[in-house]
Amino acid sequence: MNLHEYQGKEILASFGVRIQRGIVARNAKQAVDAAKQLTQETGTGWHVIKAQVHAGGRGKGGGVKLAKNLKEVEELAGNIIGMNLITPQTSAEGKKVHQVLIAEDVYYPGDSETSEFYMSVLLNRGSGRNMIMYSTEGGMDIEEVAEKTPHLIFTEEIDPAVGLMPFQARKIAFNLGLSGAAFKDMVKFVSALYRAYQESDASLFEINPVLKTSDDKIMAVDAKVSIDDNALYRRKNYAEMRDLREENPIEVEAREVGLNYVDLDGNVGCMVNGAGLAMATMDLIKMAGGEPANFLDVGGTADAKRVEEAFRIILKDPNVKAILINIFGGIVRCDRVAQGVVDAYKNMGDAIKVPIIVRLQGTNAELAKEIIDNSGLAVHSAVQFQEAADKVKEVLG
Ligand code: GDP
Ligand code: MN
Repeated sequence: MNLHEYQGKEILASFGVRIQRGIVARNAKQAVDAAKQLTQETGTGWHVIKAQVHAGGRGKGGGVKLAKNLKEVEELAGNIIGMNLITPQTSAEGKKVHQVLIAEDVYYPGDSETSEFYMSVLLNRGSGRNMIMYSTEGGMDIEEVAEKTPHLIFTEEIDPAVGLMPFQARKIAFNLGLSGAAFKDMVKFVSALYRAYQESDASLFEINPVLKTSDDKIMAVDAKVSIDDNALYRRKNYAEMRDLREENPIEVEAREVGLNYVDLDGNVGCMVNGAGLAMATMDLIKMAGGEPANFLDVGGTADAKRVEEAFRIILKDPNVKAILINIFGGIVRCDRVAQGVVDAYKNMGDAIKVPIIVRLQGTNAELAKEIIDNSGLAVHSAVQFQEAADKVKEVLG
């Protein structure tokens, strides 16, 4: 589950990580009030207005602006709220901005003493360990840094048995070229950041930029935070931060009925039981010259109700030109699944306008094929994997 910058910063602050202070506003008036309050609390006269959407590169897209007085705060916030922000990380249509973060300006004018760093904490799946990735080249596109100057990106792996060691935090501060008060503050920053990552059950904390101010303070100016979905049951306060407006509407609906669905760009809808078989099915579709329109694991109970729910979800994607149902009947018998498919199809009346290929393998597979073939419906049956692939190819033309 991804969070907004302001939510990520709230979590960071709760673990003692220094952040650029800010207040969320949902309209221009709230923005001005927020700016006044920040001026009182921090003494700042200038403010940055930052669009809150789940996408990076907001600065490049015009979603981060500096306001030098309250009139500019009002104007800029008014312009940004409601706009469709297009950044290198959004689709071509962009993302609607519902709220902005009014933040204290921390880049004091004419100041050459500030530096921007990159820092993230994430799981290295290769080694099975958390790592801190960091670079002197902060503020910009880290993908570009990785491509052009990979030697400027450092990683520090953390031993799960002992956690982040003090010498590791010092090494990071040293590699970032810091000394004196800034060095000490970076050591504190790194330790608090790692604790925040671990104790919030996050899968990603990305802070770009981490800023060194001219008075040698280290702070998070941006925050991209993802919390592991599987941990949300025990992180209720974070689960409440979910902003459904930022998520794919079909995925939101699928989650409500308990289906594991991921929307993709292709044209062949898939309905599969088990994540492994779902992955193999997506490969199969590609080999047949199609592109999967989704990943969908219907789970263990592929009865008529479940199949119908899955049909409805898949068909919400207008790009779907065919549906491949690939179910292994182990505990759930294939004939029951076949009956479920037939019943769901009949229940849905005219809603299904694309060809359907059903491959059922496992207990009572032959009987299942008979049920499909005798149903009189426009459903193609297959028993072998290859057969299913050939049928997909056939219906795609
Ligand atoms: P992103 O573009 O979505 O990654 O959003 P960021 O939060 O990283 O902001 C983009 C850029 O805005 C940063 O890299 C900074 O250069 C700039 N920025 C952020 N905060 C301030 C600030 O307080 N003052 C000024 N002058 N610039 C800022
Ligand atoms: Mn950023």
